[in-house]
Amino acid sequence: MSTQTANVTAHESMFEAVLARLDVAAKLMNMSDDVATILRSPIKQVKVSLPVMMDNGKIQVFEGYRVVHSTVLGPSKGGIRYAMDVNQDEVMALAAWMSFKCAVANLPYGGAKGGIKCDPRAMSVGELERLSRAYAMSMKDVFGVNKDIPAPDMGTSGREMAWILDEFNKVTGEDSPGVITGKPIVIGGSLGRDAATGRGVMVNTLAALKKMGLNPKEVTAAVQGFGNVGSHAARLLSEQGIKIVAIGDHTATFYNEKGIDVAAALDYAAKNGRVLKGFTGGTVIGSNDILTCKCDVLVPAALQNVISEEIAHNIQAKLIVEGANGPTMPEADAVLNDKKIIVVPDILANSGGVTVSYFEWVQNKAGYYWSENEVNTKHDEKMEIAFSSVWDNASNFKTSMRIAAYITALQKIEQGVQLKGNY
Ligand code: GLU
Repeated sequence: MSTQTANVTAHESMFEAVLARLDVAAKLMNMSDDVATILRSPIKQVKVSLPVMMDNGKIQVFEGYRVVHSTVLGPSKGGIRYAMDVNQDEVMALAAWMSFKCAVANLPYGGAKGGIKCDPRAMSVGELERLSRAYAMSMKDVFGVNKDIPAPDMGTSGREMAWILDEFNKVTGEDSPGVITGKPIVIGGSLGRDAATGRGVMVNTLAALKKMGLNPKEVTAAVQGFGNVGSHAARLLSEQGIKIVAIGDHTATFYNEKGIDVAAALDYAAKNGRVLKGFTGGTVIGSNDILTCKCDVLVPAALQNVISEEIAHNIQAKLIVEGANGPTMPEADAVLNDKKIIVVPDILANSGGVTVSYFEWVQNKAGYYWSENEVNTKHDEKMEIAFSSVWDNASNFKTSMRIAAYITALQKIEQGVQLKGNY
């Protein structure tokens, strides 16, 4: 693979950083300026104020967002995150990534993202339910089965999806399970959805190792994040014979060169408020040390912007598979490329989640539900096709997997814009 690097420098704004990478890809593939102009502005941006009665009897007003970036390839799709750093710019960037992610994975969707600025860990279940319902109510004209379909993201899960669905159904007076994905199984969720993002990370890792001529049974991996993505990724990678030497979450990080017993870690977290603090299966290390520890494969599956230029210089892994959205800062791309570290970028590596969201939506529309095996088989097949198309574009355009993933997406979106025509 070529070491050609994206000419991307530090950006204050996450959305600007997305556009900078888009520009690099657009130039390489000779994309029409008109299409680039369209993609530089999300088609819809909604910001709402959500007054919620807190348990102490006082009203607190929360900021809520939904950004629809593109609907060229279909209704917009993308999660809703609950986090303190949620802001307009971040949601715009995440929405654009959803457009590209869905295109890379060959899903008939555009991209969107939503978020509420809040600290879900500091809120009671009742407060979270009232907040989720207020958000659903205020987005009733944005969401729709064939319009804009949300799903879980950071800080949310099936529980919030159930509340949002219920509120949307009440407001519209219809039962529309396909308006939201990542639901609990009994109310129209899909088998396999919970583990899907981690499963996609596993399939992409195996595909990359194969291209690199490495045997998974002789490879070590470090997985940052032990939430929905990281925990399933660590489990599925270890089931493939990869030795997991480091794991960590926001409470603690562990290294064990002999290999961490992932099943024991999962068991521990399940009994310990879903966090790893206090786990005894490895030596405690610093939270950033997991990124630079001795391992062959690094899976950042927690937060965005964790791999800075400085950290990139110290990374020992040969392969990075981005489970999180945006874990690598743009200025680190060049360093990783120069070091010939292969990066399977977020818009490919974590597209397993939205792929099974698509299957959930298809099942909701059909009113017929598939077995877990059927879901997993179809998922793996779609992921392998997506990986190959990005890999091939990386070699055709002599660029990194990241820019190749943008090119793969932009080729489809450009075609869509041209076929649909203009005003
Ligand atoms: N939030 C996930 C993502 O970033 C899933 C989106 C979805 O399933 O729509 O890909």
